[in-house]
Amino acid sequence: MPALCEHLAAAQPHHPNTTGCEECMKTHSQWVHLRTCLTCGHVGCCDQSPNRHATKHFHATNHPVITSKEPGEHWRWCFVDEEFAD
Ligand SMILES: [Zn+2]
Ligand SMILES: [Zn+2]
Ligand SMILES: [Zn+2]
Repeated sequence: MPALCEHLAAAQPHHPNTTGCEECMKTHSQWVHLRTCLTCGHVGCCDQSPNRHATKHFHATNHPVITSKEPGEHWRWCFVDEEFAD
């Protein structure tokens, strides 16, 4: 069992700032799935969504870890190391 990267090991649960993707709500865009940034609570849309705001948030801020905001999903993802954790 490989050790988690430092980002996943340090990531703590964070309450989502919004109920939907922050940027998509402003522009009335559609999203597929939602992701929550564990550094600041930013909610962004996934890479299957047209605008990919979760990935754009990482490139804009370097906040490394997101978690799924979808009901029943609890995984985390580190953008830096491209590593999943359950
Ligand atoms: Zn990492
Ligand atoms: Zn979005
Ligand atoms: Zn963030």
